[in-house]
Amino acid sequence: MSVETIVIVGAGQAGASAILELRANKYEGKIILVGDETHLPYERPPLSKDVILKPEETKIEILSEEKLAELGVEVIRGNGVVKINSDAKTAELKNGDVIAFDKLLLATGGAARRLANFDALGKHVYTLRNLEDSQALVPVLQPGKRIILIGGGVIGLELASSARFKQCDVTVIEMGAMVMGRSSPRVLSEFLLKQQQLAGVDVRLSTAIVDCQLDGEEIVVTLQGGEELRADAVVYGIGIVPNAQLAVDAGLDVDFAIKVNENCQTSHPDIYAAGDVATQLRADGQFRRVETWENANLQAGIFARHVMNAEHPVANPAWFWTDQLDINYQFVGDMAANEWLIRGDIQPELRQESSFVLFGVTDGVIVGGITVNAAKDMRHLKKLISKQAAFEADKYLDLSQDLRKLVK
Ligand code: FAD
Ligand code: NAP
Repeated sequence: MSVETIVIVGAGQAGASAILELRANKYEGKIILVGDETHLPYERPPLSKDVILKPEETKIEILSEEKLAELGVEVIRGNGVVKINSDAKTAELKNGDVIAFDKLLLATGGAARRLANFDALGKHVYTLRNLEDSQALVPVLQPGKRIILIGGGVIGLELASSARFKQCDVTVIEMGAMVMGRSSPRVLSEFLLKQQQLAGVDVRLSTAIVDCQLDGEEIVVTLQGGEELRADAVVYGIGIVPNAQLAVDAGLDVDFAIKVNENCQTSHPDIYAAGDVATQLRADGQFRRVETWENANLQAGIFARHVMNAEHPVANPAWFWTDQLDINYQFVGDMAANEWLIRGDIQPELRQESSFVLFGVTDGVIVGGITVNAAKDMRHLKKLISKQAAFEADKYLDLSQDLRKLVK
């Protein structure tokens, strides 16, 4: 059966990337992009950084109106999909319109996980997922303002960095014993923590919040043990919940996220899912969800190639980055490697002048890597991991040896 109409639900990273991948793979049929936001697709990584710090000069649009027209895409904005009929292969929009599809991609991303007790305060409480959330923080993060960030994950640490650049008084409260504990090994987590502390951020680890109240225009947060912290605003970043309800209602297989196979197909062969909303079957037989910019683009490519019967290239090890306090961190491969070995010196006090590489090694093989202000070494780490190279300390930890030459 020929594919004449593809509907993409979600005008975000995966949705935009899917359009480019479909056209690059010579799909000539109709593409309808349906977004519940009023914006054209935009990048989210700058929302915690440059949109706050340099709002005037930061461009985040992925596809302009002209580009979408050139690509022959019909764009529906501010009118999301509310229901999918998987038997009839139709999608119903918020305004009641119904559109038919041959193939449909669910690229609906995720929503900030909520803290009901903070939301109930009704003011001075924020989360960060979309452009409006980021713009709302600009007037809040002003010099001298007391900001409490709940969650020491990527949102918490990137916002702590932006808030310090804006000369706010910043406290981070993290339930776990490590910052970025989900995505970073201990050795790097300690470095990240030290950077925040050197920048003047008060980081509280292994700390639970037992109460929050409004006292006039102040928020009073009570920690386990009774200590009270007062703030002008609270921003919480405690993870996301995949926007998977459409798939649940359509009877697709969902386990918190939408389950997809190696081709990004859901349990319905003509409905696919990609990006933060999808949990994908991996070579080891496990389903895993990856919440990164790169993964959204990669899965969009997998979807497009599968629709066009094109082969998938060999997957690279997973990669993501974070920018905090003028330090660029890049991560590749398995962050749960058994041991981490350092090329260079970890000297936290050098702050943004710090530069080193970490090798993650399991059973003598390089399985993960991290660069700290050493982005140029990232492609070498990617190659070593892809080749399953044996770790040789005398070669890789010797700074007099050029990594580029060692990788060949
Ligand atoms: P999104 O980009 O969120 O797009 C989903 C879209 O679908 C949204 O527009 C949503 O409104 C829409 N939608 C939802 N439901 C419907 C519906 N029913 N109908 C129509 N539309 C719908 N990753 C990195 O690797 N590095 C970074 O530095 C980084 N920084 C980040 C900073 C912030 C503040 C945030 C929030 C994320 C960051 N990420 C980063 C993560 C990265 O942006 C996400 O992994 C990526 O955007 C996921 O793409 P997606 O298409 O799955 O979801
Ligand atoms: P996250 O990275 O999952 O971190 C959330 C953190 O909050 C975790 O450390 C979590 O601890 C902690 N936490 C959970 N409940 C808490 C509570 N009640 N009190 C205090 N701490 C609590 O999620 P996020 O930082 O909110 O980011 C949201 C999304 O944006 C993710 O998809 C993320 O990938 C994306 N993002 C990515 C980047 C980047 O890649 N550079 C930057 C910004 C945002 P536990 O792990 O113990 O639950």
